[in-house]
Amino acid sequence: MSTYNWIDHTYDVVVVGAGGSGLRAALGAAQAGLRTACITKVFPTRSHTVAAQGGIAASLGNMGEDNWRWHMYDTVKGSDWLGDQDAIEYLTRNAPQAVYELEHWGMPFSRTEEGKIYQRAFGGMTRDFGQGPVQRTCAAADRTGHAMLHTLYGQCVREETEFFIEYFAMDLIMDEEGACRGVTAWKLDDGTLHRFRAQKVILATGGYGRAFFSCTSAHTCTGDGNAMVLRAGLPLQDMEFVQFHPTGIYGSGCLITEGSRGEGGYLTNSEGERFMERYAPSAKDLASRDVVSRAMTVEIREGRGVGPEKDHIHLHLEHLGAEVLAERLPGISETAKIFAGVDVTKEPIPVLPTVHYNMGGIPTNYHGEVLTKKNGDPDSVVPGLMAVGEAACVSVHGANRLGSNSLIDLVVFGRAAGMRCGETTIAGATQPELPKGATDSHLARLDKFRNASGDQPVAKLRLEMQRAMQSNCAVFRTGDVLKEGVDAIEEVYKKLPGIDVQDRTMVWNTDLVEALEFDNLLAQAAVTVNGAATREESRGAHAREDFADRDDVNWMKHTLAWNDGTGKVTLDYRPVHDYTMSNEISYIEPKARVY
Ligand SMILES: Cc1cc2nc3c(=O)[nH]c(=O)nc-3n(C[C@H](O)[C@H](O)[C@H](O)COP(=O)(O)OP(=O)(O)OC[C@H]3O[C@@H](n4cnc5c(N)ncnc54)[C@H](O)[C@@H]3O)c2cc1C
Repeated sequence: MSTYNWIDHTYDVVVVGAGGSGLRAALGAAQAGLRTACITKVFPTRSHTVAAQGGIAASLGNMGEDNWRWHMYDTVKGSDWLGDQDAIEYLTRNAPQAVYELEHWGMPFSRTEEGKIYQRAFGGMTRDFGQGPVQRTCAAADRTGHAMLHTLYGQCVREETEFFIEYFAMDLIMDEEGACRGVTAWKLDDGTLHRFRAQKVILATGGYGRAFFSCTSAHTCTGDGNAMVLRAGLPLQDMEFVQFHPTGIYGSGCLITEGSRGEGGYLTNSEGERFMERYAPSAKDLASRDVVSRAMTVEIREGRGVGPEKDHIHLHLEHLGAEVLAERLPGISETAKIFAGVDVTKEPIPVLPTVHYNMGGIPTNYHGEVLTKKNGDPDSVVPGLMAVGEAACVSVHGANRLGSNSLIDLVVFGRAAGMRCGETTIAGATQPELPKGATDSHLARLDKFRNASGDQPVAKLRLEMQRAMQSNCAVFRTGDVLKEGVDAIEEVYKKLPGIDVQDRTMVWNTDLVEALEFDNLLAQAAVTVNGAATREESRGAHAREDFADRDDVNWMKHTLAWNDGTGKVTLDYRPVHDYTMSNEISYIEPKARVY
């Protein structure tokens, strides 16, 4: 093994990730008087949160009556009853407060005539427990994530959060008792290696959309934190639930926000028909994302796709008028021009369902504490380890996330995690020495890739994995197709020892970064496709043609998945929380999910 020298740091709290969730958690921990560091592989305001367009859900009631109980009902229904209702209650009750907090910190929301925060309609968001659409999604034009991330970063700087920028977190430092004691990182610009010791590590590393061939997420969305959890011998939850957004631009995958349908946009097939009226007679184009993506896929399969290959669908915005488009949807007007060559004031945008969001992730309770199944207890907490944002599975999104419910998840649970640190951590408490040998495996993994000189370029193996996931773990699934996917991922694992990383240096070695990220993606691809192959029902985003119905008797439970590091996946389950957190609302009983 090469010899490496560690540079040591000690903090009360270390947050890995500087997207919306990481920044909000870091802010909360700093406000609680804890010495807080935030490690990020990209500059904070380049995190994927910056790309969020449509908005952030909260029942402010600025544009018609609204109520957090209605938001809760919609979220439970959207989740297809896989969400934990105590956590969903926590989310929706605290949402308005979290949005006002952003407003007071200076987030530049769009405004109504009277100067209130502007709210638009979004899929699955209704009034009065499913009785027609409500305008609940608070927006800053179609650049809401950008506005939010910059606001949060400013506040973190003000609270003197210490940033470690362009540090690539490698692995969790665990002790013999299974507690997390810190994290290791590689500083990309000078090649030094760092050990961060902390009373609490909060993972906020985002989703892993890049396990698929076509996705709306940034190249950095490789789920590194999820993979670190798997390598620590802990499970991930509900990974088979992957959201396809109905409107990625055909070809490039760039997102056209659901807010465009919220503003009145609609989809048509090759016959010019507004086909969503057949699939979701009341919500139509604003049905939940899984429902719209499946309808589009069926239209294309049955020969009613548009274009020379009849392989995509049209999204119309031209009837909204140039003025509305310029004021409410300027960003996507530009995106459509650049990536599809379309002038949205005159012609429809070619679109296709595209991988967009990971409902699954690191299991946590609503304080952000990471859960594992220890001695049969499905709610046992892993000491020292927390997770928030898209990396976490609280689970509020269950089998399908509603649009605009992620940005609110980031700030509500980021805030909760910061507060929990305040309650459970003593500022400046002396921390024991790190256990001997606790970072050996981190260095061995680094060495393995740094010295890899096989004949399989990283990009080639990554493409094999991405293609397998795209064709074998898609909008519609069957047992046979998923089994093929399981085998294909196994094949990629077999080729892993032959991987080729040409650059041997430690300074700006993007080849090595991509190898580590690919290894992280592969670990998650394995648990995703195995979880999907085993779940014999259809629920939310997981649509099995061979098991077309939801099966609450056998499958209303969360999947827990472990990966032994060679792609061998072990599955177990934990019950869905069928209770609420207060007596202000009672458990919402399962029923058929129609829009
Ligand atoms: C195009 C697009 C539009 C969207 N629009 C909306 C919307 O309108 N409304 C909505 O609610 N949701 C939307 N979503 C979803 C939502 O934006 C994301 O789920 C959310 O922003 C994720 O935030 P996060 O804090 O979990 O992580 P991210 O914002 O993805 O940030 C991850 C952070 O982790 C860091 N990191 C990762 N790995 C490492 C490592 N190894 N070492 C160090 N740092 C690391 C990164 O540097 C980054 O700072 C959209 C998503 C996309 C892709």
